[in-house]
Amino acid sequence: MDHQHEFEAWQTLVGKHYVFHLHSDVLADTDIRDAIVKADERYPVLSQELLVHPVSIKRKERFSRTNYWLHRPRLPEEAPVSQVFTLDPEASLAQGWVDTSGIHFGVQNRSWLELVDSMTHEEVHAIWGREVGEAPSLLNEGMAVWYEIRLSSEQNRVQELCAAWRSVIESGEETLDNLCRTNVFWDAYSRGLSVYGVAGVVIGYLLNTNGLAKLNDLFLRTHYEDEHLADMLMACYKRPADRLMVDITDWVHAIT
Ligand SMILES: [Zn+2]
Repeated sequence: MDHQHEFEAWQTLVGKHYVFHLHSDVLADTDIRDAIVKADERYPVLSQELLVHPVSIKRKERFSRTNYWLHRPRLPEEAPVSQVFTLDPEASLAQGWVDTSGIHFGVQNRSWLELVDSMTHEEVHAIWGREVGEAPSLLNEGMAVWYEIRLSSEQNRVQELCAAWRSVIESGEETLDNLCRTNVFWDAYSRGLSVYGVAGVVIGYLLNTNGLAKLNDLFLRTHYEDEHLADMLMACYKRPADRLMVDITDWVHAIT
């Protein structure tokens, strides 16, 4: 057993698309019900955007709803090691991850509804990952960031990504070739570089120039620990990473 959830501590609510499990600690949170209703409504929107899991009567009959665990922040067993946070009960915290048991989202001293974009981010990981598996973090996080922003009600979040590209890539802090390696990506993240934004730009560019089907193909041909993502980008997009970096910079300038 990878996980053990204490059954009596959770209230289970079956949505149209997710099975929500609310920990007893969060049951009294005023806006948690609204947050899960919105998440359930978002599922068909995200599925449509990602062209995966069309919502059909037959799919519902396969009883394949994803579990969605909502709780206070805690130390996850399978979360990326980069998720460092304090468990100080006074602090304002939000945390999310996806593992074999579903989507996890932890919130403390913050409104659930103000974290809609972060919840969307984890939902993309879950929906897309179930279809095509994972890729090195540059692509995994890029997908989640790009679609989180596409669905965001906040304006101008694409400009946030462009600013990240300028601060990390155009400044020469890191190269696309380096960030293709997951350990470099997380090392740069821990140095405070906006690598999530860079990842979102990469996905935005690949989608805008070559479409979703090609990206789907790229994900199927790589995996989380793949150390040769740059070679696979070359195989799929016929461009070495340093050339791609120049093309993406031109694209960023064009949309800024
Ligand atoms: Zn993520």
